[in-house]
Amino acid sequence: MPTMPDASEMRRLADVLALSPDYAAALDVGSGGGWLADRLLAARPQSRVIATDFAITAMIGSHCRDRVGASAAALPFQSRSIDAVFCCDVLEHLPDGVEREACAELRRVAGRWLVINTPLGEDLGRSTIRCSTCGRLFHSDHHQRVYQLSDLRQRFEVDGWRCVAVRTTGWKLRYLFRMPRRLGAMLHFGWRDRLVCPHCGETRFPLQTWRQRLKSTVTFLNNGLTRPFARVMNRDSEVVILFERSV
Ligand SMILES: [Zn+2]
Repeated sequence: MPTMPDASEMRRLADVLALSPDYAAALDVGSGGGWLADRLLAARPQSRVIATDFAITAMIGSHCRDRVGASAAALPFQSRSIDAVFCCDVLEHLPDGVEREACAELRRVAGRWLVINTPLGEDLGRSTIRCSTCGRLFHSDHHQRVYQLSDLRQRFEVDGWRCVAVRTTGWKLRYLFRMPRRLGAMLHFGWRDRLVCPHCGETRFPLQTWRQRLKSTVTFLNNGLTRPFARVMNRDSEVVILFERSV
């Protein structure tokens, strides 16, 4: 069984559905465990929902039967052939060239609607690790870049596409300062279970006690010092955007 979505994932999925337009056919690109495809099916049982993922085996346990193994950068569908195309928590994982091709493919395949979801203004330093074997830095979830709203509009508002709705979602974040990547790496700020170095494949990342204490102290001070200003400082970790094709 796939792991269940956590509270932030649930909120994100709910917000993606809230922005979701009417469709007879939908495509979920990079469907992962199939959570979104399942909800799209449940929301409109008469519709056709197709799920694509590079690793289609990731969808074991999903109810979506229409599955295609494909890269987001080479979608095996005709141009404008699917009313609504969803791409959630995918783009930030793709290397630059692949991401550019994926954005073009999403715009090409979608008939009228595109629903795009990524992290918003992420502080990459807080998820950075230095590999003890090869010495290189990496993001614990292998995110490749930071997206602001303008970056996403720039990628999709071409060829007659325009942004028609925006909704922020995910976790509530409140940071006193932006974590420099090297400091984050030194503290192993992005440490968590089941890390894999994308450069050399290392999987053993013991977290030394001093780092654990320093990391806890930084987090404790951050939360304590910012708490009085929570109302103005809290922001959402992700964004969902609905684009519509106008020509
Ligand atoms: Zn490594």
